Amino acid sequence: MIDFHSHIDLFPDPREVARSISPACGFVLSVTTTPSAFAITSAIGKLAPQVETAVGLHPELAAQRHSELPLFERLVSSTRFVGEIGIDGSPPSKASMKLQREVFDTILACCARAGGRIMSIHSRGASREVCESLARFDTTLGTPILHWYSGSLTDLRLALDLGCYFSIGPPMVLTESGIRIIRKIPPNRILTETDGPFVRLGKDPARPGEVGQVLSYLAGLWAVTSQDAAQQVALNANHIFKKHGIKRKIS
Ligand code: MN
Repeated sequence: MIDFHSHIDLFPDPREVARSISPACGFVLSVTTTPSAFAITSAIGKLAPQVETAVGLHPELAAQRHSELPLFERLVSSTRFVGEIGIDGSPPSKASMKLQREVFDTILACCARAGGRIMSIHSRGASREVCESLARFDTTLGTPILHWYSGSLTDLRLALDLGCYFSIGPPMVLTESGIRIIRKIPPNRILTETDGPFVRLGKDPARPGEVGQVLSYLAGLWAVTSQDAAQQVALNANHIFKKHGIKRKIS
């Protein structure tokens, strides 16, 4: 099982969460929302062999934290993983969209200069803007992964043409709109995620690697077993790791 987007550092006890990741979980991308959170989150990630930590600057914090961009630039050389980054166009963030785009473009330029990064990208209410920014850079260098994609099917097509992967979490398989999106994504572009602790499974936050529900849905869609679906997702992740020279192989 693979979790390409978990906010381990935002759980009440991040160390306990990292230490208790199930051995059945092969990989967790621990994303951060500010560059200043990277050092401590990266130290926590070292408590579990499955965890890689990404340096991020969440679009909803861009207005408040863009002064941390120089720190982001310094940190980008210490990891192959970047996120959570992106643009948010939902009503509370709309006012800062111009600034968010500038921050996102600066980050993309920085990743391109570093030789390409694996990037977990937020695009709520801004799928077109995210695609436009990605198109301006040589995305073939890096690997953009659209996390919890909820944009139009037209923009989905654009994103696929730009080489994007899509990380699918529990809320997507439970909604009509999420399912409509998943059905349009080729199996070789699909990854799984939890987005815990923001996403809950029942009354508890989704812990890293809790993607069983997503795999069951994918298994039904692809007419295979859940194990085969997990295998396909592992294959996709391994393909990304290999492209970025990362010595990690999920079986
Ligand atoms: Mn998130």
